[in-house]
Amino acid sequence: MGVFLVIFKAISFWIFLFAILTYLLFLLLVSTNVQWNFFVEAHHNNPSLKNKEIALTFDDGPVDNTLEILALLKKFNMKASFFCIGKNIEQNPEIFRKIIEEGHMVGNHTFSHTRKIGFLRTHQIIEEIIKCNNIAFNIGGISLNTFRPPFGIINPKVKRALERTGHQVIGWNVRSYDAVLSSKNFILKRIIKNIKPGDVILLHDNNLLTVEILEQLLLFLQTNNYRSIRVDNLFQLNAYS
Ligand SMILES: [Zn+2]
Repeated sequence: MGVFLVIFKAISFWIFLFAILTYLLFLLLVSTNVQWNFFVEAHHNNPSLKNKEIALTFDDGPVDNTLEILALLKKFNMKASFFCIGKNIEQNPEIFRKIIEEGHMVGNHTFSHTRKIGFLRTHQIIEEIIKCNNIAFNIGGISLNTFRPPFGIINPKVKRALERTGHQVIGWNVRSYDAVLSSKNFILKRIIKNIKPGDVILLHDNNLLTVEILEQLLLFLQTNNYRSIRVDNLFQLNAYS
């Protein structure tokens, strides 16, 4: 009997450990994949759209690079959405105002874009979101209603914070990997390969490479009769309140 008990205990330990590790892996996956809508119902794309309309979205600005992006969007007469970091809005108020003046949408991307977002407490996440909104209001005179989570992280604390602030979450369904890949052709191909109406494309305006591929991307959209519109128009939302 004693031998069986030892074996049973040993097996139970491994089953317990396996269950814990599986649970942790599960939490990690659902927290870092905003497109799965596990904690929060986010807007990722609009497949019901019939017109050849997509939404280009740029995260992590406003920075100097943003000006080149704005010039290209103007040249091709396309509209986009910029999810701005509060700190960067403070540093580049004129660029932030220019984005709005040129008819693009701006959304909240937290104050500091900290890598520790997944470890912050609910009240700290609320502070991050509110601080970004206050800066946007003081500089641009608008109250932001949309939010894109840094690194796409949505965990139960981010969910609770969003319930308090009331922001609509905007995700994406086409990830360009412009922030991690270095081949312009590869990034461009990834974006245009399966493009379809209602797509939301994730790009970064703080990346030099993005500026370089944007002209080709806009040219592709134009020649294929696609138009980039603001995400609030893609999903029929109110961008500001
Ligand atoms: Zn970001």
